Amino acid sequence: SVFGSQSTGKTKVSLNGTARNVSGRADRLQIIDEEKNFTRDLAEQMDRWSLRETGFDYNIVSVFGSQSTGKSTLLNRLFGTNFDVMDETKRQQTTKGIWMCRGKGMNVMVMDVEGTDGRERGEDQDFERKAALFSLASSEVLIINLWEHQVGLYQGANMGLLKTVFEVNLSLFGKDKGSTSQRTLLLFVIRDHIGTTPLSNLASTLESDLLRIWDSLSKPIELQESKLSDYFDLSFTALPHKVLAADKFESEVKTLRRRFVDKSAEGFLFKPAYHKRIPADGVALYMEGIWEQVQSNKDLDLPTQQELLAQFRCDEIASVALAEFNEQAKSQRRPIEAGRVVEGLGAMMRRWRQGALSRYDKNASRYHQGVYQRKRSDLLNVIDSTLSTLFLGQLKNVHKSVLAAFKREMQDGMRVEGYNFADVCSRARRRCEKRFIDGAKEAKLEDTDWVWEDELELLREEMAVVANQCRADETKKMLNSIERYFKKQISEPVELHLSVATADMWDKVLIAFQETLEKAESTYLSKARSFDCTEEENTKSLSMLRKRAWLALRSRIDEQTTEPVLLSKLRTYFEDRFRYDEHGVPRVWKPDDDIDGAFKKARDQTIELIPLYAKIKPQDPSLAYELPDDAAEDDSQQQLEPFDFDSSLTILSETKVLDISSRFRKDADAYYVEAKRSTVSSIAQ
Ligand code: GDP
Ligand code: MG
Repeated sequence: SVFGSQSTGKTKVSLNGTARNVSGRADRLQIIDEEKNFTRDLAEQMDRWSLRETGFDYNIVSVFGSQSTGKSTLLNRLFGTNFDVMDETKRQQTTKGIWMCRGKGMNVMVMDVEGTDGRERGEDQDFERKAALFSLASSEVLIINLWEHQVGLYQGANMGLLKTVFEVNLSLFGKDKGSTSQRTLLLFVIRDHIGTTPLSNLASTLESDLLRIWDSLSKPIELQESKLSDYFDLSFTALPHKVLAADKFESEVKTLRRRFVDKSAEGFLFKPAYHKRIPADGVALYMEGIWEQVQSNKDLDLPTQQELLAQFRCDEIASVALAEFNEQAKSQRRPIEAGRVVEGLGAMMRRWRQGALSRYDKNASRYHQGVYQRKRSDLLNVIDSTLSTLFLGQLKNVHKSVLAAFKREMQDGMRVEGYNFADVCSRARRRCEKRFIDGAKEAKLEDTDWVWEDELELLREEMAVVANQCRADETKKMLNSIERYFKKQISEPVELHLSVATADMWDKVLIAFQETLEKAESTYLSKARSFDCTEEENTKSLSMLRKRAWLALRSRIDEQTTEPVLLSKLRTYFEDRFRYDEHGVPRVWKPDDDIDGAFKKARDQTIELIPLYAKIKPQDPSLAYELPDDAAEDDSQQQLEPFDFDSSLTILSETKVLDISSRFRKDADAYYVEAKRSTVSSIAQ
C-alpha cells in the first residue's frame, strides 16, 4: 500500500484511510481518496475526536498550494497534527486526495489538500477545482502556501489555482452577495522568506495579481460589479527558511499559531463571519453531500444543500427525540388501557413533551430555521397525537372512577340515619364533579385544543341517572314501608267493623280507611320533600300508594268475608236471636212456644245481612271512596288482569250470595231441628 511506505514509526495507516497512533486512537482520516471517493468514516471519526457535539464551536481550515511546498509540515506545526510529510530521501508526493486531522487541543478540523503542480495534467485541474469547491463550501480559512520566489509569477501554478478558487466561489456564493454571511479568509503564507523584500511589498504584489485575476474572470451579468472584497478577506504572512533559519522559523510559526488559537491575539484568524454555520453534528453529512454534488458535476447550490442537510438532520434529531419520548409514553399506555387513572399523568406528559422538544431544539435549532421550525411542528404533532390518546384514556378512566365514587357516596349517604336525599345527592355531585374537573385539568396540556367538557357533560348525565335510580329505589322502599304500616293500621278497624253486620258498617270501615290513608299520604309527602321528587313523581307515588292501600283494605275485607268466617258470623247472629232471648238468656223451648215463628224471624233477619256484606256501600254516599283513575298504574306489582275499581267494590257475587244463603239455611235448619228435638225430649221426660 502506498500508505504503508509513508507511515512513520509512530503511525500505522490502514487501508481504509484511517491512521492510528500507538494508542489506537485514529487521529487522521483520508476523507477523499485518490479515486475521489468520500470516506464513510467521517461522522464516526468526529465522534472519536469529540467534535460532534460542539455545535458551532469549531473551525475548519484548509491548505492549498503546489506540491512539496511544506504544506503538511506547516499544518503539523500550527495545529499539532500528524499529516504525512515528504520523506527527504524519496522525494515523492505524499498527500493524495484530502486528509483531515483534528487540531491538537482545539476544536479545529484541518484539511490537507493534495498539492497541484503539474497543471498541464488535465486530471489534476479537475481535482483542484473540486477540492476548491469542497473547501470553500466548508472552510473558514484557506491557507494559500507558496514559496517567496513564486510571488509575482502571474502565470504560475498558484495563480491558476486562485483563478479556480475565485470562479468556484462565484458559483457558490455569488447569489448570496450582499449578505456577508459567507465570507472566507485567504491567508497567504509565503515560505522561505529571505527578508530582502519586505512582506508588505510581497503582499501588494500578490494583491494586485489577485485583483487582476478577479477582473479577468468571466462573471455572470448580475455579478459584473462584484468585487473580490465582497467575498474574501486577504491576509499575508511570511515564514523564514525552515532549515536555514530554523529558530526564526519556529518562533514565527508560533506567532502564527497563536493567531489561530488565541481569540484575543492580534489578527485572530477564525473570525465568526467566516463560519459556514454548519452544526458540527451535520458536518460529516454536509461534506459528503457537497462532495457528491461536486463529483457528479452538478451545480452546487449551497442554500439547497443546507436545506437538504437540515431536513435530513432535523428528521434524525426528531426521531431520536421521538424514540425517547415514545419509550416514556409507553410506560403509561398499559395502565391507561387497563382503565387505571394515572396519578400526575399531566405532569408526566408535560415533562416528556418538554424533554423531547428541548432535545430536538438543542441540536436542530442550529439548522436552517424554516426547516427546523417545520420539523418541530411535525414532531409536536406526532407527540401530541400520542399524548392526546393518553389524555382521552385518562378522561374515560377518571370519568369511570368518579362515577363509581358517586354511587358509593350516594349509598353511604343514604345509610346515615335521617339523611336528606337532596343534600346527600348534591354534596356527592359537587365533590365528584370537582374531582373530575381537577383530574381533567391536570391532564390537559395548556397549548392544545383538547377538550374535556363533553366528557363532563356525559358524566353529569350518568350521575343524574344514578341519582334518579337511587331516588326511585328509596321511594319504592319508603312506599313499601308506608304500605306495611298502613296494612297494620287498617287491620283492626276492618275486623272490628265487619264483625257485626250493621247498616253503617261500610261507613265506619271507609272512615277508618280514609283516615289511615290520609296519614300515610302525609307521611309520604313529608319524606318525599327531602328526596327532591318532582311533582309528577309525587303524583305517581301517591296514586300508587292509594291503590295499594285500597288493595290492602280489600284483602283485609276478603279475609273477613271468606265463606267460613262469614258463615260463622251469620251463625252467631242467628244464634243470638234464636237461641237467646232479648235479655241474652238461653231459651228453653216449651211445646207451645212458637218455635217456627222465632226461627223464621231469626233466619230472615240473618239472611238480610248477607247482601250487606256483598258490596262496599256506605249509607252516607259522601263517604263512598272513589279510587282515582291513574291509581290503576303500579309498575311495581305485576298484574295478571287489569284492575277494575268498580268491580273491586263487590265482595260477594250474586251466586256467592245465593250459595252462602243456602248454606246458612242448612245450618239454621239444623238449629231448628235441634230446637224441635229439645221440646220432644222434654215432653218425653
Ligand atoms: P507538502 O507536499 O507541501 O505537504 O510538503 P511537505 O510538508 O511534505 O514537505 C516537503 C519537503 O519540504 C519536506 O522534505 C520538508 O522537510 C520540506 N520543508 C518543509 N517545510 C519547509 C520550509 O519551510 N522550507 C523548505 N525549504 N523546506 C521545507
Ligand atoms: Mg503534504
